[in-house]
Amino acid sequence: MHRSQLTIDLGAVRRNIRHLIATLDGADLWAVVKADAYGHGAVDVAGAALSEGARTLCVVTLAEALELRAEYPTARILVMSPLLPTEIARAREAGLEITVVDADIPEGVRVHLKLDTGMGRFGLSELLSAPGRNVVGLMSHLATADCDLEFARAQVERFRQLTEPYAGLTRHIANSAAVLRIPEASFDAARCGIALYGLSPFGTDPADDDLEPVLRWESRLAQVKQLQPGESTGYGRRFVATEPTWIGLVPAGYADGFRRDMTGTEVLVEGERRPVIGTVSMDSFAVSLGRELLVDTPVVIVGDGLLVEDHARVADTINYEITCGICSDRRRARRVIVDA
Ligand SMILES: *Cc1c(COP(=O)(O)O)cnc(C)c1O
Repeated sequence: MHRSQLTIDLGAVRRNIRHLIATLDGADLWAVVKADAYGHGAVDVAGAALSEGARTLCVVTLAEALELRAEYPTARILVMSPLLPTEIARAREAGLEITVVDADIPEGVRVHLKLDTGMGRFGLSELLSAPGRNVVGLMSHLATADCDLEFARAQVERFRQLTEPYAGLTRHIANSAAVLRIPEASFDAARCGIALYGLSPFGTDPADDDLEPVLRWESRLAQVKQLQPGESTGYGRRFVATEPTWIGLVPAGYADGFRRDMTGTEVLVEGERRPVIGTVSMDSFAVSLGRELLVDTPVVIVGDGLLVEDHARVADTINYEITCGICSDRRRARRVIVDA
């Protein structure tokens, strides 16, 4: 038995994609698989996405794009962040599409020009002149589609005004939250990341938006012991037993992506939610069992109704950060791909 096992269900990716495509009502779905598909595995997720009708793969770095190009020679691949001049030459050779954030448009490569409509990050505030021949797309990014729809709608309107004269180009601004909440944001294509993985852009239960989690993370009890009153577990003695307390040690820690600030979250032990106690170590954490259990009892960290969103709430972060932090090193966790 491995220390822990991650199971990626490509069937769930497919169902999420079908749901998003139906919601989009005609606009293209582009699959955002940056950061190794938010920790889920970019090559596998991209394959499922393409076969389910995603029209373009979106990444952030040249290396991410080249990994996908090697697997999918004919796929449209968009690099969404600005590249260095040396990288642009590689992108051209590999037939990638690139994002340009200023008026300096390279030749011989398909370009998406990025406009800043309110995110206050990369992009031009105005389209000063007609985009050149090799500009195929106009894009922008929403700052608040998950939390302030009024501001998001104003950004969409600004984008519409700026790009109206160039409606022949591919116009795209929507992310997952916009697809689910702002139908008029879809234009020609939507760049969906988090929703592909069955995670909620709103930090709520993904089932509320008909999304199905893709990732399952499980481990087991590697040791079971009873702490006597006054005895503690873990660094800093942050949990001290006040009564005889059965604990289990689970071999997943912050090096595996089980963050240090997840003390207090719950995991499923024999189907029951039990609290994580003490300081999370690099390689293990402790769970309060409530009773004596056998070594090797299964522990579910994510799955069976226990959500990444539940852990994110405890860690005071977003689901994106939790799955991006799950270690993809096969020397630590086993990875299983299923297509159920
Ligand atoms: C990451 C990213 C997305 C995807 O956002 P989700 O909220 O995961 O859907 C879309 N567009 C850009 C520019 C991004 O960087």
